[in-house]
Amino acid sequence: MGTQTGIQGPLDAVPGKQGEQICTECERLEAARRRAEAERDYSRVTDCNVLIARHRIVHSTRA
Ligand SMILES: [Zn+2]
Repeated sequence: MGTQTGIQGPLDAVPGKQGEQICTECERLEAARRRAEAERDYSRVTDCNVLIARHRIVHSTRA
Protein backbone atom coordinates (compact mmCIF):
# COMPACT_ATOMS: atom_id res chain seq x y z
CA MET A 1 0.00 0.00 0.00
CA GLY A 2 2.71 2.45 0.92
CA THR A 3 5.39 1.00 -1.28
CA GLN A 4 6.14 2.30 -4.73
CA THR A 5 8.09 -0.27 -6.65
CA GLY A 6 6.60 0.43 -10.06
CA ILE A 7 8.81 1.38 -12.93
CA GLN A 8 8.65 5.06 -13.68
CA GLY A 9 9.16 5.76 -17.34
CA PRO A 10 8.72 8.88 -19.41
CA LEU A 11 6.32 7.11 -21.74
CA ASP A 12 4.66 10.35 -22.76
CA ALA A 13 7.93 12.00 -23.61
CA VAL A 14 8.70 12.40 -27.26
CA PRO A 15 11.83 10.43 -28.09
CA GLY A 16 14.64 12.00 -30.04
CA LYS A 17 15.38 14.95 -27.79
CA GLN A 18 18.83 16.40 -28.01
CA GLY A 19 21.26 16.00 -25.16
CA GLU A 20 20.42 12.39 -24.45
CA GLN A 21 22.72 9.46 -24.76
CA ILE A 22 22.52 7.96 -28.22
CA CYS A 23 23.74 4.47 -29.02
CA THR A 24 23.55 2.46 -32.21
CA GLU A 25 20.30 0.90 -31.04
CA CYS A 26 18.81 4.38 -30.57
CA GLU A 27 19.89 5.32 -34.07
CA ARG A 28 18.45 2.14 -35.51
CA LEU A 29 15.10 2.68 -33.82
CA GLU A 30 14.95 6.34 -34.80
CA ALA A 31 15.82 5.53 -38.39
CA ALA A 32 12.99 3.00 -38.44
CA ARG A 33 10.61 5.56 -36.98
CA ARG A 34 11.63 8.19 -39.50
CA ARG A 35 11.06 5.74 -42.34
CA ALA A 36 7.64 4.84 -40.94
CA GLU A 37 6.79 8.55 -40.74
CA ALA A 38 7.87 9.02 -44.35
CA GLU A 39 5.56 6.17 -45.33
CA ARG A 40 2.78 7.63 -43.16
CA ASP A 41 2.59 4.32 -41.35
CA TYR A 42 1.52 5.83 -38.06
CA SER A 43 0.86 2.57 -36.27
CA ARG A 44 4.48 1.66 -36.93
CA VAL A 45 5.56 5.12 -35.78
CA THR A 46 3.75 4.45 -32.51
CA ASP A 47 5.44 1.07 -32.23
CA CYS A 48 8.82 2.69 -32.73
CA ASN A 49 8.03 5.38 -30.15
CA VAL A 50 7.21 2.69 -27.61
CA LEU A 51 10.37 0.76 -28.43
CA ILE A 52 12.49 3.90 -28.21
CA ALA A 53 10.93 4.97 -24.91
CA ARG A 54 11.42 1.50 -23.46
CA HIS A 55 14.97 1.36 -24.73
CA ARG A 56 15.75 4.80 -23.27
CA ILE A 57 14.82 3.53 -19.82
CA VAL A 58 17.82 1.22 -20.08
CA HIS A 59 20.02 4.27 -20.55
CA SER A 60 18.56 6.16 -17.61
CA THR A 61 18.74 3.19 -15.23
CA ARG A 62 22.35 2.41 -16.13
CA ALA A 63 23.75 5.85 -15.37
ZN1 LIG B 1 20.31 3.60 -26.94
